[in-house]
Amino acid sequence: ATPMSIMVGVGRGAQMGVLIKNAEALERMEKVDTVVVDKTGTLTEGKPAVVAVEPATGHDARELLRLAAAVENASEHPLARAIVDKAQADMVNRGEDSTRLPEVADFDAPAGKGVLGTVDGRKVLVGTAGFLTSQNIDPSVLAETADRLRRTGATAVLVAVDGTPAGVIGIADQVKTTTPAALAALRTEGIKVIMLTGDNEVTAQAVATELGIDRVEAEVLPDHKADVVNRLRAEGCVVAFAGDGVNDAPALAAADVGLAMGTGTDVAMESAGVTLLRGDLNGIAHARQLSHAVMSNVR
Ligand code: ADP
Ligand code: MG
Repeated sequence: ATPMSIMVGVGRGAQMGVLIKNAEALERMEKVDTVVVDKTGTLTEGKPAVVAVEPATGHDARELLRLAAAVENASEHPLARAIVDKAQADMVNRGEDSTRLPEVADFDAPAGKGVLGTVDGRKVLVGTAGFLTSQNIDPSVLAETADRLRRTGATAVLVAVDGTPAGVIGIADQVKTTTPAALAALRTEGIKVIMLTGDNEVTAQAVATELGIDRVEAEVLPDHKADVVNRLRAEGCVVAFAGDGVNDAPALAAADVGLAMGTGTDVAMESAGVTLLRGDLNGIAHARQLSHAVMSNVR
């Protein structure tokens, strides 16, 4: 494409909330046949909130939330924020001082798994079933509760205290109001849509079914998101990847076109050729139309 037609395309994109950083991204967009989308913060709002606190037999809901929140207070993860916010809101409702979450020691946060630490002398683990298993705690007494929450599309966060499963916290994140129309536009264009997430298979399937997405790659650890993109490219697909998080940066860079959410992290935007302002996925179809207009001007 000529520099002039690219400039016009970039300008038209900006008017529609599609910020195009490099000409290659604009040129390649019309050839994209596969769109891989991160779930949390991309298809959904990325503002998760606690919807259920379910203690295991012999455990107390308030204590479960208090211990989990104390450990999550040291984490930046959106799920951690949801747990801390809920614990503090409950404390305010009871007339307690919401700043008084207990201190955490020996904190650790293995990426894509959860957090652990010592609170009031007790060892607390918060995260996936696999995380508990990896710490030699059998999570099976929590499986039924966790799956019930997951089938509603919520993320089940498991909690263990002193080596024993203590309960499950259900956390839900709303689908963006713009997402269904954006996916419909891609489907009309015959584009394959694949959901990619670190979240549990059952939760991912529930959200995918609600959105009519038939291909899901779940329980993908942060380091492996780019591998999925590379595998699809090796199969001959022209891949756009849409994501918002720090974890998404390698996949954004590996894709033929990286699409970052303007509502996401700076790292994601730096790694992407295109930024969708307000995180509106309708920008993907808009970018393809622009690309087609710019490239057919040349031909
Ligand atoms: P996503 O790909 O959906 O953005 P991540 O890769 O960050 O998710 O995390 C994958 C999974 O690991 C989450 O769905 C959650 O079950 C678990 N997890 C990660 N961090 C935390 C945390 N701080 N507290 C509880 N669970 C966590
Ligand atoms: Mg995300």
